[in-house]
Amino acid sequence: MAEETIFSKIIRKEIPADIVYQDEWVTAFRDINPQAPTHILIVPNKLIPTVNDVTAEDEQVLGHLFVVAAKVAQNEGVAENGYRLLVNCGSHGGQEVYHLHMHLLGGRRLGPMVVRK
Ligand code: AMP
Repeated sequence: MAEETIFSKIIRKEIPADIVYQDEWVTAFRDINPQAPTHILIVPNKLIPTVNDVTAEDEQVLGHLFVVAAKVAQNEGVAENGYRLLVNCGSHGGQEVYHLHMHLLGGRRLGPMVVRK
């Protein structure tokens, strides 16, 4: 059984977060340390630690993450100019919180996709 992270507490509203969208499948809230004018995390309510733990059963909820990303981007006013969706996996991917999440970044022109060596 995977260990819960702070994100499970945010989903259950046991600790405060700026939640911008929630339904039975996913929760979206503002990143506490924003890297762009709009920086929102979209998280499945179910605990899936990393992309490595994804199974066929998760197809519906993970597809739904994109539906919600598009809705949140509209609501935030970044849809027209564009934005970036990012999922980190594991230590080389820079994942800090082991509850799978999609970053939605926008509101300015973003730099290159990865830091160049
Ligand atoms: P990652 O490196 O992909 O695991 O991203 C984790 C993200 O979670 C980072 O951008 C953090 O700033 C963000 N984060 C950590 N704790 C919180 C929190 N309590 N509320 C909102 N965002 C958080």
